[in-house]
Amino acid sequence: MSPSDCLFCRIARGEIPADLVHEGERLIAFRDISPQAPFHVLVIPREHIQSLGDAEVGHGALLGEALLLAAEIAAREGVAEEGYRTVVNTGKDGGQTVHHLHVHILGGRSLGWPPG
Ligand code: 5GP
Ligand code: ZN
Repeated sequence: MSPSDCLFCRIARGEIPADLVHEGERLIAFRDISPQAPFHVLVIPREHIQSLGDAEVGHGALLGEALLLAAEIAAREGVAEEGYRTVVNTGKDGGQTVHHLHVHILGGRSLGWPPG
């Protein structure tokens, strides 16, 4: 999938509307359209990286920033005290459906483990 027709690239470019909670130079975050918990936000890099498996050493800082941003958003949105989960689904068995790297932040309820 090329960046021109990638759904999350299109959201990052503002071509498709999203409920944004963060707009930065390298990362954006927005509410999931089909929330799996009372709080469900996705953090994505503006750069098109297909999956965690396609990330390279040079993406290390960006990936770290994405996790730190997830923690910052969880704190700001009031779910950090009770706890939350960050998830990066990768590939078919990982349940990845959108092939642009994203970090889920899920919170607002007790989450089961192991995941289904
Ligand atoms: P994955 O299954 O790839 O880990 O996660 C993709 C997520 O993107 C899903 O939770 C899905 O609900 C969400 N999603 C898919 N299309 C859209 C959309 O157009 N807008 C928003 N905000 N979220 C979307
Ligand atoms: Zn993309």
